[in-house]
Amino acid sequence: MWKVRVKTISARRALVMLTALIVCTGFWIICAGFWRHITAPPERVAAPHSGGVRPLTPLPPWERAFVQIPSPNWDLRPPGTRVSALVLHATASASGQVAINTFQDPASQRSAHFLLDRNGVIIEMVSPEHRAWHAGRSMLAGVPDANNFSVGVEMVDRNDGQPYTDAQYAALVSLIRRLRTHYNIPDARIVSHRSVALPAGRKSDPVGFDFARLYAALRH
Ligand SMILES: [Zn+2]
Repeated sequence: MWKVRVKTISARRALVMLTALIVCTGFWIICAGFWRHITAPPERVAAPHSGGVRPLTPLPPWERAFVQIPSPNWDLRPPGTRVSALVLHATASASGQVAINTFQDPASQRSAHFLLDRNGVIIEMVSPEHRAWHAGRSMLAGVPDANNFSVGVEMVDRNDGQPYTDAQYAALVSLIRRLRTHYNIPDARIVSHRSVALPAGRKSDPVGFDFARLYAALRH
């Protein structure tokens, strides 16, 4: 009788200890995972033109979604060049994925700094510090090659008069405000691709974009 009682207690103790072990191990795994998450180094991406790696721009604390999908299609701005303009484009496509595929293809030789999807998501594809390949042959206020000194923003739109979404206008306003903390880009130098492309008439984008609405929103 006594022996049976001892055996029962031992079994209970073993069960308690096993349960405690499982709980502690689980807790430790969760803690270790959380620690790795908060101490993880920033993501880095290969940049073929800089001969090494460059850190991605830290994610700004915007309320809007902001993601980074690097394009290989960029080079360095001419030494001493300051960013002083913003060129707006339409992707002339129904979805952003078409433009992402094009800008990620080295053979296309095309890119933009930012892509604004119709739901307001901002996709950074080239750092504004670098020279993206969006404007082609162009001139702004008598200065040739707008790629040298501008930020290129592609908005997902068919460019056939399809209205731009409220989310795109809002995202563009937050993006420009953010850029203006680094660069002097006056309203008069936020321009359409159509207005800078050479020869005149080579480009029509962004058809139907309401610049007056953008400038008004930027004043508030
Ligand atoms: Zn364009």
